[in-house]
Amino acid sequence: MKDYNFFKDFRSNIISQYEDCNAYKLLCSSQFYDPSKDLNMEVDMERVPFVETTLFKKSANMYTTLLRTEPKNLEKWTVSSSTSGDPSIVGRSKKDMLQIKEFIELEKERLDTSSEYNCVFYPEPEVMRKYKSIQILDRPTESYIGNILSIFPYSENTNYLLHPSEGEFSVDMEYFIKFLNEHNHKDDHVSLRGSTPLLYNATQQLKERMKPFKLGESAIVHTGGGGFDGKKGTINIGTKIERWRFVEEVSSFFGIPEENFIDTYSFTENTFPITGHYSKEQKDYLFHIPRWGKVIIRDIKTLKPLHKQGDRGLIQTLNAYGTSSFAGASIMVDDMAEIVSETRCPECNAEVMTIKIIGRVKGSEAKGCGATLDIKEGVKA
Ligand SMILES: [Zn+2]
Repeated sequence: MKDYNFFKDFRSNIISQYEDCNAYKLLCSSQFYDPSKDLNMEVDMERVPFVETTLFKKSANMYTTLLRTEPKNLEKWTVSSSTSGDPSIVGRSKKDMLQIKEFIELEKERLDTSSEYNCVFYPEPEVMRKYKSIQILDRPTESYIGNILSIFPYSENTNYLLHPSEGEFSVDMEYFIKFLNEHNHKDDHVSLRGSTPLLYNATQQLKERMKPFKLGESAIVHTGGGGFDGKKGTINIGTKIERWRFVEEVSSFFGIPEENFIDTYSFTENTFPITGHYSKEQKDYLFHIPRWGKVIIRDIKTLKPLHKQGDRGLIQTLNAYGTSSFAGASIMVDDMAEIVSETRCPECNAEVMTIKIIGRVKGSEAKGCGATLDIKEGVKA
């Protein structure tokens, strides 16, 4: 396994970004900041200027300004989406895409990528990537989450439950029921993955007409793309889903232990996925910050870095890797998190910074990665 010297690599990444991207250099100058002079020790990382994710939005019209390379060197523009049709647009080279793949590989045990049978509450990767794709400066736009689905090393027995029909998507409930019956009481190595609101919705529907299942100890539930606020663009189930309620209901109906629930947090402008495991005791997911990334939690009003257990604030991510094509080394997102520990996960003792994701700052619109689909009201069954 490659050894990550995060501070050294982050320093060289931010210095290159300063040299490559005039917009970032200007931002630094306005704060009298020069990374090659001012970033000498780990503690100095808190002073590194950040780019807010709102600047990557289509409406800000800065996504080309935020590149570190010529558009011709990009492989694609990865895009998020939103209810208002104002996605983030992030130019990525082939090399930067491969870095995401490497990070997923590094966490393959936590992500249980070896599971044999997968039911995914998203469309097929290719369909998702190409959905509403357009060309910008001769490069295609592609859904960020569609790319993550492409990168994820799914087994051969993987079924993507969202099928396109007449410009919308619907969940193939018929297949899902068949899948559940096939693996009921078998203790097979199965995974239910994908969009939180869609899996939650499917659970609610099945509960009304069927007895609970028992998929067993080897089954896992892996959600991603956010959606606990009940809406992700047009995937809107109207109500906020409390994490503990989601876990308790899905766990009891499908007979999957609560300990086997994981959730992955990331956003289009970031490179390293952050995965959390569910804690029964804390009734929430505990997200581990991997050693190849760094998170700083900042006070929502003063933007000062916070350090104490229980402190809540905005999430800033520092990327040492995978941002060679865009100014993604230091990013501030409009999501909030709570510090559980800066050094160790209290539940599994992993020596990593551990946080809880609180969700979007009030008033900012849902723009998470699951937001790129039009979902039909009624489902196919
Ligand atoms: Zn842990």
